[in-house]
Amino acid sequence: MTDCLFCRMVAGDIPADVVHETDRTLAFRDINPQAPTHVLVIPKAHHRNLGALAAADPDLLGAVVRAAADVARQEDLVTDGGIEPGYRVVTNTGPQSGQSVDHLHLHVLGGRDLRWPPG
Ligand code: C5P
Repeated sequence: MTDCLFCRMVAGDIPADVVHETDRTLAFRDINPQAPTHVLVIPKAHHRNLGALAAADPDLLGAVVRAAADVARQEDLVTDGGIEPGYRVVTNTGPQSGQSVDHLHLHVLGGRDLRWPPG
């Protein structure tokens, strides 16, 4: 979709600070980080949210989740096979959640104590 910001990043039309890439996924640093580590993980194909991707391509959803776990290890948010220091993965769906880009993205957040519940 040419009018989708994240599709344009996948295409290379808009620069992104890429930290991880596979044939079907891309991960890049959030331009407005909410934690010392704040990376967005997306499918390269356009799907508007979690439910849409789960319905259309569950294998790709698995690849996106695996990429998020890989990013967490790569960013030293967990040791191999461990849980320390820890991190959060979150995705927003729809206006009440605050979703501002209609291309599924997992936020990978870590590097500080994260409050619960989120705002
Ligand atoms: O969950 P939500 O849709 O609000 O998340 C979109 C995210 O995309 C925001 O955290 C925003 O900072 C990020 N963003 C970005 N680069 C842009 C535009 C938005 O990293 N050029």
